[in-house]
Amino acid sequence: MPAPRALATEAVHAGRDDLARQGVHAPPIDLSTTYPSYDSRGEAARIDAFAADGAEPEGPPVYGRLGNPTVARFETALARLEGTESAVAFATGMAALSAVLLVRNAMGLRHVVAVRPLYGCSDHLLTAGLLGSEVTWVDPAGIADALRPDTGLVMVESPANPTLAELDLRAVAHACGSVPLLADNTFATPVLQRPVEQGARLVLHSATKYLGGHGDVMGGVVACDEEFAGRLRQVRFATGGVLHPLAGYLLLRGLSTLPVRVRAASSNAAELAGRLAADPRVTCVHYPRIGGAMVAFEVAGDPHDVIASVRLITPAVSLGSVDTLIQHPASISHRIVDADDRRGAGVSDRLLRLSVGLEDVEDLWADLDRALGTASGRGRVLREAAVANG
Ligand SMILES: *Cc1c(COP(=O)(O)O)cnc(C)c1O
Repeated sequence: MPAPRALATEAVHAGRDDLARQGVHAPPIDLSTTYPSYDSRGEAARIDAFAADGAEPEGPPVYGRLGNPTVARFETALARLEGTESAVAFATGMAALSAVLLVRNAMGLRHVVAVRPLYGCSDHLLTAGLLGSEVTWVDPAGIADALRPDTGLVMVESPANPTLAELDLRAVAHACGSVPLLADNTFATPVLQRPVEQGARLVLHSATKYLGGHGDVMGGVVACDEEFAGRLRQVRFATGGVLHPLAGYLLLRGLSTLPVRVRAASSNAAELAGRLAADPRVTCVHYPRIGGAMVAFEVAGDPHDVIASVRLITPAVSLGSVDTLIQHPASISHRIVDADDRRGAGVSDRLLRLSVGLEDVEDLWADLDRALGTASGRGRVLREAAVANG
């Protein structure tokens, strides 16, 4: 491994170190599904090696489902940013989480201990047991007591989607003992937090969000040690949730601006969080201690009115794009979670989740201010009508 370089340097150079020697500047996009080889004995040996430990085949690639050179550049770069040996990319964040669960299930370790809230679909995947796993939901303090001989994974998000609740990852990792801790780092990104440094074994990203950063590519990735990565590649090969090479290219390009985007959007978000906290139309604001570009807040009026009233801000699920998005978790991102479980995890029906982008902060505030005015105005009219009606 080369000597460690600063994050901002890795962001623009990792996964690209060979380009100048190849006489190109932008990474080539390799769209091949298959690779010619006149040496089938050598290819057989590479396939055997992959079947043994899932290591990336030495020498020429074999088939698109085993690995792709453009996707491998993104994996190399993300591993460097997260400070892990390896990273394995998938078609989406959910495909990445599924592969982790399948690796553990295949070892007979079907029990998962998890802390709410998680992203709505992660919660659903575990709660519904769609892949044959069984979940025990606990508070962070209950992790150690919930571990069983067949516990294969502890899963947390910090800051969590959508409440931005933060965990002490070091303490959580300690409570896990020898059970691998998976930290979903989608919200923080490696710019703000590297969970492996705090004891997590697996770092999950919905690359669809900040890593891509422009709302135009879906992907998922797990950063981890090479042993676990090998098993993930074997599952990816056998189940097929590969990342497309064009997506790999876009995600690698997204990484190059990740530190700049995250810092600029975070400074906007911190400013908006402060203004929302001082606003009487807002009853509660959640903004993480580590910062970031996500803000969650509860409104006194009807949250649906705020969604209906924004004009510059886009009312849409997802997050992490260059432009600002807002959504109502109880209706959209966390709709699939049982209402009582959702509320129990702090996801109030009045909560709105804002993914702050790179617009001018005054323009963003003007839009929010007007949308909040509409919401509280209509709420006031309804309340006055109720009073008038006795
Ligand atoms: C969006 C999201 C996911 C799922 O990722 P997809 O790319 O949509 O499959 C997982 N975790 C978090 C925290 C997310 O925000």
